[in-house]
Amino acid sequence: MIKNPLELYKHLDQSNCRRCLLPSCIAFSVAVIQGQKKLSDCPLLSAEKINELTGGIVRKKSMSEEQDAYLALLQEEIAQQDLKDIASRLGLPLKEETVGVKCLGKYFWINAQGGMASECHCNNWVHIPILHYLLQSKGLQPAGEWIDFPAIQDAGGKERFFAHRCEESMQQLVDEHTELFFEILDLFEAEEVRETEADKARILYPLPKVPFLINYWESEESFPSKLNILFDSKVSENTNVESVYMIGRGMVEMFHQLIIRHSSGELF
Ligand code: SF4
Repeated sequence: MIKNPLELYKHLDQSNCRRCLLPSCIAFSVAVIQGQKKLSDCPLLSAEKINELTGGIVRKKSMSEEQDAYLALLQEEIAQQDLKDIASRLGLPLKEETVGVKCLGKYFWINAQGGMASECHCNNWVHIPILHYLLQSKGLQPAGEWIDFPAIQDAGGKERFFAHRCEESMQQLVDEHTELFFEILDLFEAEEVRETEADKARILYPLPKVPFLINYWESEESFPSKLNILFDSKVSENTNVESVYMIGRGMVEMFHQLIIRHSSGELF
């Protein structure tokens, strides 16, 4: 069995000839394990070698495949529930055999099989947290006390990723497009926070009763700009850390795309 790129690399020509259109044999090994290239894409592998290796490679699932598998699992669980019970437990609206969940100011409607419909684009980063919310949330009112990502239950090990991929990436967007960024937040029913130490602060609701507080400080003389994202202290009762992380990454990607669309004149 070949479970990692290094094991596959040992079987390659190792000449880095680039005929597979990748910069090196190790890059090719990684691409094969991730399912982005086939062994036959390397012309220096003989048919016998390809036969020998085929079937022995344990392909790593891509992130989107893992998300699809998790989504299917959540949909199975939803199919065993009564949407009316869920709606009454969480105080959500029902419409034509679907339950509505408001995410960033827009309704997403979930049917009995866990399928999702909305006037907005339906992405996994919205769909998965919404299904998880329907199944697991206690629907508690926010306490009004803010905590940072590391203080969320089971956040251990993910803090670095959240800081880098969510907070730092969002800060970069805000630094480069400050005014536009906050105009975009208004499209998602962001609430302005007036009494704050930050220069700008907005609260977004990617899930009901799960507020995200975005604080931004502009750069000033020798002080660089700063951005952090905080959560209500009841966050772990209403969702889980995986959903928070997924939403954080999804929002950054969505804001980035909207900024690109604005630059090409498609937005506003
Ligand atoms: S074609 Fe084969 S030998 Fe050449 S770089 Fe790609 S993997 Fe390596």
